[in-house]
Amino acid sequence: MTAAGDRLGPTLFERSRPGRGGGKIPHAPKDALSRIPADQLRTDGPHLPEVAEPELTRHYVNLSQLNYAVDTGFYPLGSCTMKWNPKVNEWAARLNGFASLHPFAPDELAQGTLALLWELEQALAEIGGMRAVTLQPAAGAQGELTGILMVRAYHRSRGDLGRTEVLVPDSAHGTNPATATMAGFKTVSIPSAADGGVDLVAFRAALGPQTAAVMITNPSTLGLFESRIGELLEAVHAVGALAYMDGANLNAIMGRFKPGEAGFDVMHINVHKTFSTPHGGGGPGAGPVGVGERLLPFLPSPRVLREPDGSFRLERSGERPTSIGRVRSFAGNAGVLVRAYAYIRAQGAAGLREVSDDAVLAANYLMTRLTGTLDIPFSRHCMHEFVASAATLKAQTGIRTIDIAKRLIDYGFHPPTIYFPLTVEEALLIEPTETESLETLEEFVAALRSIVEEARTDPDLLRSAPHSSPVRRLDETTAARQPNLRWKGMTGDQTPCPD
Ligand SMILES: *Cc1c(COP(=O)(O)O)cnc(C)c1O
Repeated sequence: MTAAGDRLGPTLFERSRPGRGGGKIPHAPKDALSRIPADQLRTDGPHLPEVAEPELTRHYVNLSQLNYAVDTGFYPLGSCTMKWNPKVNEWAARLNGFASLHPFAPDELAQGTLALLWELEQALAEIGGMRAVTLQPAAGAQGELTGILMVRAYHRSRGDLGRTEVLVPDSAHGTNPATATMAGFKTVSIPSAADGGVDLVAFRAALGPQTAAVMITNPSTLGLFESRIGELLEAVHAVGALAYMDGANLNAIMGRFKPGEAGFDVMHINVHKTFSTPHGGGGPGAGPVGVGERLLPFLPSPRVLREPDGSFRLERSGERPTSIGRVRSFAGNAGVLVRAYAYIRAQGAAGLREVSDDAVLAANYLMTRLTGTLDIPFSRHCMHEFVASAATLKAQTGIRTIDIAKRLIDYGFHPPTIYFPLTVEEALLIEPTETESLETLEEFVAALRSIVEEARTDPDLLRSAPHSSPVRRLDETTAARQPNLRWKGMTGDQTPCPD
């Protein structure tokens, strides 16, 4: 058994043998070393593992085969939209003209990429009902920060300096309060009503001249469409605050609901979720932000501009002094943006609406099929995802959501999001997406039913799951709080999974 678990085999450091090496460089100049200035040469070796090329290749290919991915199976991770990513997007992103363009290339040599970015901005603005879009932010979370920084600039530009609070419903993604805090605001949490929506009475009571903005996720992280959205937005604007929409769940509403037209002033879009870029494990993604009229002057610079003659250029520095400035280098994560463009063009307007309709249909189908197996706390029509709960099962058998999630791995499925939203006890947040077949959804239903049966007949099987994975249960708290990413030789009890 190694530090990483038995199916993983020895680490590269353990495989290392002094003097063993990789490939040979063709025609290496004999005087290669003497061409490097003496004061730039290392005095001792870099302590890298010494392995031959076949060992190295096999090591990483074997590791890659232990990964669970949407390319290998169903991945119903709620809030993350792990839909299928069409391979044609990869082809598009790898086209030499996009992939090899130097970020400092002058505008004349970057017309194709600039045109794509400009058209993508138009498409996202149309989908969101917004006036204009910036593509710069590198993720949804950075899009949120960009949006709230624009809100701050807006209030400051009007000399309205007493707005110190941002209201965030308690079911929100953790990035919402983090964003408000990073932008220097105080976060005020708004409780949910019994139906899962925002509690309108508490909401109105918290609003005032001190409110800078309200961040609303719609559909919410409970998978519910906020039915009182009109009243909420009216109340926000009545006190002079702005409405931010967390658009991570745009997957559920395309072609059916345009947040900008409904009255939202600003919204980010997670293009890696809704518009199919492979994501997870930290990116890369993109979090374009759309704005209405009021925030238009504050968009990050440089914007992509279209000249009267139809050519494109980037805004020059200082050209728009009201801008909040750059939030990321160059034009953003260009490869992700090419994928989003390819996806949108492949779907077209009717296709995008169908995407959302099918995502909602799949979630409602699964929710209906699982009623009676798990608790369904909000059984009204859900959007692209729904919350289930193991609270009753726990009361009856002691089996918890974590045990169900770990056992699902043995059945060959990626577990759903668990213990989120925080407002639901023993929560499982399940998002099937529109790309899964009826057969796959049914296999998932069968697995969950079988696991709930096991909870009654053989609970220890669940408590010790997973049984089929390279590692068993990890101490996830320690792993998250004290990540130890450096290898050192370990034995016995020192190993993360003692024998
Ligand atoms: C994913 C998500 C975010 C954060 O987006 P990243 O691209 O992961 O930074 C914010 N809000 C909601 C509701 C999300 O699902």
